Amino acid sequence: MMRYYSTRDANRQSFHSLKEAAFMGLAPDGGLFMPEYVPHADLEQVLQKASSSYADMAAYLASLFFGEEFSADVLRSLVQHAYHFPCPLHQLDENLWMVELFHGPTCAFKDFGARFMGAMLGQLGEGDEQLTVLTATSGDTGSAVAAGFYGVPGVKVVVLYPNGKVSDLQESQMTTLGGNIRAVRVDGTFDDCQALVKQMFNDREFRVTHNITSANSINLLRWIPQSFYYFYAWSLWHKATGGVAPDVVVPSGNYGNITAGMLAARMGLPVRRFICASNANDVIPQYLVSGEYCPRPSLHTIANAMDVGAPSNYERMMCLYGNNYQELCSSLCGWSCTDDEIRSAIATIYQRFGYVSDPHTATGWLAAQHYEAQGFSLSTAHPAKFREVITPVLHQDVTIPLTLQQAMNKEKRFVSIDVDVEKLKAIIDAD
Ligand SMILES: *Cc1c(COP(=O)(O)O)cnc(C)c1O
Repeated sequence: MMRYYSTRDANRQSFHSLKEAAFMGLAPDGGLFMPEYVPHADLEQVLQKASSSYADMAAYLASLFFGEEFSADVLRSLVQHAYHFPCPLHQLDENLWMVELFHGPTCAFKDFGARFMGAMLGQLGEGDEQLTVLTATSGDTGSAVAAGFYGVPGVKVVVLYPNGKVSDLQESQMTTLGGNIRAVRVDGTFDDCQALVKQMFNDREFRVTHNITSANSINLLRWIPQSFYYFYAWSLWHKATGGVAPDVVVPSGNYGNITAGMLAARMGLPVRRFICASNANDVIPQYLVSGEYCPRPSLHTIANAMDVGAPSNYERMMCLYGNNYQELCSSLCGWSCTDDEIRSAIATIYQRFGYVSDPHTATGWLAAQHYEAQGFSLSTAHPAKFREVITPVLHQDVTIPLTLQQAMNKEKRFVSIDVDVEKLKAIIDAD
């Protein structure tokens, strides 16, 4: 069976099972989990399965990692349940295609990782063991986790979000599901929410007796499946253009998405180079220029899902490149943009191509322009999620997809607490 080690365990002294790694989230030494080896994907198989469906391809790729824990049938039914939405490639011009990763239930790419993790946790839990997934969110993660884990047997989800600091739509997405999803509105900031989660995790006794785990974005069950859509996008692009090694542009914040692409490249996916696009939080693009990694507090921008000043997945990136800065620089370029540049890119993309892009996706387009990229760029969120940015730029409203409309019309249900870990414990204890 595949085992997992920590990015901080350079000599690979300590290995963990899939279940341990998935339930712990973060390694005991504070590092991120990595697979013991990177399996090789057969591109002929990928092309063949992808032409049948995304789920068929994902089942094949998942079997390379998890095939000894789960039978092919289990993996297939799991991904069929997780991936019931399309992942189309949209051509902008002769050089650049957009991979639309926003057709899932919460209209952002995080659905790909969260839904896979939800389905897998349901399988990893044993018997009537009741698992509590605790997650703090500044918006997008909470909604993706809530939707991804909704209805998973044996799993209860508690989402903490800061009062008044998430958009109305995001709040609706977290608070209207019901069922096994509990929303907790905290009178505090996102950092307070995270601190509460940390306190719960540090209370070992409570954590163990209540089977508490996290579902944050660094969890390897969210990370590994994000490598799958790079194969899928490549197969569509290869069919459409005959090209073999594309430039791959990724709007990046915490760098989970792009490092999953780098994992795909290690598995055998041909990529000419990766291009990371950031907003004003340009720690990685700066690092690629200066060779010095200088994390710093995050800045608030209009592409707020990328407002990260100390990207967690930096450790995974360095691990994938054997801590070799030169090798990293030969595979990755970076570009960053200001809010004004993002706004004017949204306008230009619409004028030139009639394509409405969200602020994150627009950073990718700007980076692609700068490097004259030939390949594809990831479209990470549906523009309707960022209407308040887009409407004033395009002077018209954005059509809201049905899934978002439905959430907006339902009654919100949540429990309100102040920053008090005892109150949170009481909520977890209550049912
Ligand atoms: C989370 C998110 C990102 C950043 O992805 P990372 O994996 O953190 O680099 C970009 N765009 C959108 C819309 C997101 O929700």
